[in-house]
Amino acid sequence: MRKALLLLAALPAAAFAQVTGAPSPPPRTEADARVERLRDAALKDDVAFDIMEGLTTEIGPRMAGTQQEARARTWAVAKLKSLGFRNVRVEEFRMPTWVRGAETAEIVSPFPQKLSVTALGQSASTGPNGITAEVVGFDNIEALRRAPAGSLRGKIAFVSHSMTRTQDGSQYGFAGPARWNAPQVAKDKGAVGIVIRSVGTDYHRNPHTGGTNWAVPGEGAAGNARRSGAVDPSTLPAIPAGALSLPDAENLGRMLERAPRNRPVRMRLVLTPRWIGQQVSGNVVAEVPGTDPDAGVVLIGGHLDSWDLATGAFDNAAGVAITAAAAKRVMDAGRPKRTIRVVWFGAEEVGVFGGTEYHRRHNADTGRGRVVLVGESDFGADRVWRVDFGLGPQNKALGDRVAAALAPLGVARGGDRAAGGADVGAWAREGTAVIDLQQDGMRYFDLHHTPDDTLDKVDREQLRQNVAAWTAMLATVANAPEEIGRASSPD
Ligand SMILES: [Zn+2]
Repeated sequence: MRKALLLLAALPAAAFAQVTGAPSPPPRTEADARVERLRDAALKDDVAFDIMEGLTTEIGPRMAGTQQEARARTWAVAKLKSLGFRNVRVEEFRMPTWVRGAETAEIVSPFPQKLSVTALGQSASTGPNGITAEVVGFDNIEALRRAPAGSLRGKIAFVSHSMTRTQDGSQYGFAGPARWNAPQVAKDKGAVGIVIRSVGTDYHRNPHTGGTNWAVPGEGAAGNARRSGAVDPSTLPAIPAGALSLPDAENLGRMLERAPRNRPVRMRLVLTPRWIGQQVSGNVVAEVPGTDPDAGVVLIGGHLDSWDLATGAFDNAAGVAITAAAAKRVMDAGRPKRTIRVVWFGAEEVGVFGGTEYHRRHNADTGRGRVVLVGESDFGADRVWRVDFGLGPQNKALGDRVAAALAPLGVARGGDRAAGGADVGAWAREGTAVIDLQQDGMRYFDLHHTPDDTLDKVDREQLRQNVAAWTAMLATVANAPEEIGRASSPD
């Protein structure tokens, strides 16, 4: 009911946006009848769920650089071949690999009790005996930034934040800095360790892991070496950094308020992750060859790796399953004009190594390898509710046809703000056309990077709606008679 109301609210705005700037309303765009048939058949899809079930059951957690991720690649190659894809291959690369160790946290005084904790990706180790230190609490990262220089020397920082559920996931950008940046800020002020309130929205005693960013010495907390790919993160100075479940973070907050002045809150923190050197990861690539080599490639996918706490159903077995299932539907209906290339990227969670490497290797491809449009699914398995475009002005009619094909699925037209996801973002940033099928994020941060990210959370009908939306979009763009141009010139 809530979603229906939201859709009704969104539609007039979209209609208005089409009218402004034109002297008269353009004729309503009818989706191609063939696209409609493919779309509606996809509402009975079982391929995506089968891929998710296979990956989460036969492989399970797929931490980047580990044997688990290598097994996932082998599984993926066999699966994609059995589905009928062509040119199935692995493009390997090497990346610095971090693995989890022991992790415990307990308050030793004045209110002794254990807390539920997990290490953040790229955390330093406390050593097996752990560290015991006074906890200094901050309501948010801004309060931490205001702490005087050196004031956290010898202390463990605790950084909280507030985060609510949002359909578009925008609260991740608001709360995320507590994980991405606060550890470096705490380190700069002398802290020997940090625990944060998990960046998540559930009240289970599940801490949420996820990567943090350490700065290159001299660059300060603003440095973002991890995403650049230019610096080996294992060489950066770091401190032990963990996340507490929401119930534990709130309990710690109350302890800090109730502790007597002469008996500050002291925590024993044990985190023993370690770097295991440069290991092999890889991108798994599969194709639906097009009939017109000059028409370019439509590049879609998700990431094959996952964090290690769960089987990575929402993040991101769903994304690889949805995109492959949709591509198979277009393939089975007859060869499309353009090649559809499905990439299951490696090592996304730990720093977008796969997406960065894929772009670096193929950005300059010309002729039949030229990528003309990108798309990515990496926001769980719940329904697509909005489509955003990043198309050049010459492809406005193409956007209209895609939006028309999606509307019957309850997908509203958003703005021209598509940016792709982490793995295809580099293409979008340098001007390649991009379409974002935005998924409902209301449940996403209950599960994200927790032990709860498992297959049972998948709503099969919403998963099928995703496949239908991707099928409609892919069938339209892969067969579009017009040239797909750049959204903007490279910057
Ligand atoms: Zn993801």
